[in-house]
Amino acid sequence: MEGKEVQMNKLVLPGDILRASEAIEMIPEVDLGPPIEVPPIPPEADPKNIPEEERKFLKSGIRSRKKEIGALVLAHNYEPPDVQDEADFIGDSIHLAKIGRDSKKKVIVEAAVLFMPEMLAVMKQPDQIILTPSRKALCSLAAHADVNKILAWKHEHPKGKVISYVNTYLDVKAETDICCASTNAAKVIQYMAERHPDSPLLFLPDVFLGYFAMTVLKKMGRSTDNLWLMMGACHVHEKITAHHVMRRMALHPDAAVTAHPECGCVSKCSMLLDQGLVSEEMMQLRSTWGMLEFVKKTPAKKIIVATTVTNIYPMQKAAPDKEFIPANPEARCAFMEQNTLRNLYESLRDMKHEITVDPELAERAKIPIERMLAIQ
Ligand code: SF4
Repeated sequence: MEGKEVQMNKLVLPGDILRASEAIEMIPEVDLGPPIEVPPIPPEADPKNIPEEERKFLKSGIRSRKKEIGALVLAHNYEPPDVQDEADFIGDSIHLAKIGRDSKKKVIVEAAVLFMPEMLAVMKQPDQIILTPSRKALCSLAAHADVNKILAWKHEHPKGKVISYVNTYLDVKAETDICCASTNAAKVIQYMAERHPDSPLLFLPDVFLGYFAMTVLKKMGRSTDNLWLMMGACHVHEKITAHHVMRRMALHPDAAVTAHPECGCVSKCSMLLDQGLVSEEMMQLRSTWGMLEFVKKTPAKKIIVATTVTNIYPMQKAAPDKEFIPANPEARCAFMEQNTLRNLYESLRDMKHEITVDPELAERAKIPIERMLAIQ
């Protein structure tokens, strides 16, 4: 109790590092809004706002330019539908990182947020060129990860191990022991807890995914006393609350629910599952990729989806006979939607914007990235 009072009297700022139990308690007290300016979504992210003639021109220009320069186009599931349609592969961060790493194409354009093509720039062959359609495609979650706070924590915990979510930039990855993505977060946490049973573990930067890390350790029968979390969040997923999910569940009692573990509803969903109030058949907390698998397999005909609205597009394509209900229809990632048909075309046409990385940082960051990719 005393610890809590001490903690409650301390000003906790976004990006601060706390013991896991304190961090979870402090969620309502800390401003987890975006620490960077969120750009407006370009009107052309919606296909209705591009004249049909121009749309056809851009699509055919993208296809012919890809052939001409030998380019591979990758797009994240959160990209605007038009961009997803022109990609050679769509997927989540880890899926695209593997495809990009293994590609022999001379040019790889990745329509995603910048930490993703940055990872490809770390792993690329010397003669490959990595491009991004828009340099404005940042990430509010990655912006919460302050490398100086990580260095201070490491100084206080010399035996500590750092697990960074893939949504971080290279300076943070360079101070990380292993990265993880939503797809393999549970396995990475398990791996680190087993391999370093006596070391403090720092999981960053997403405090909601940190809650998920706590549940993984508890299921393993491990104490969470030595788990530390950073007070960071994605401004899109954080705004998908338990109220959104519960309201939709009340309106659609026959619908299954799938939620991304970055969401603000994660603790409530976990509680409903832990208490047996909802069955695992009807509710699953899954990664971006896992959600897609779930919607294909579930026998439910209606699915409440707690993630970005654009992520419903690949789900609808994969399961066209099902109805998808966004938990929060306003959950759109303006950063992901900076990439559009227009700037994808311009990127291929003009070979812009090339992603280059600091070689020393890249060498250090490559280690936790490769460790992440080795854990399926
Ligand atoms: S949805 Fe959130 S975590 Fe994903 S890129 Fe956008 S801001 Fe970052």
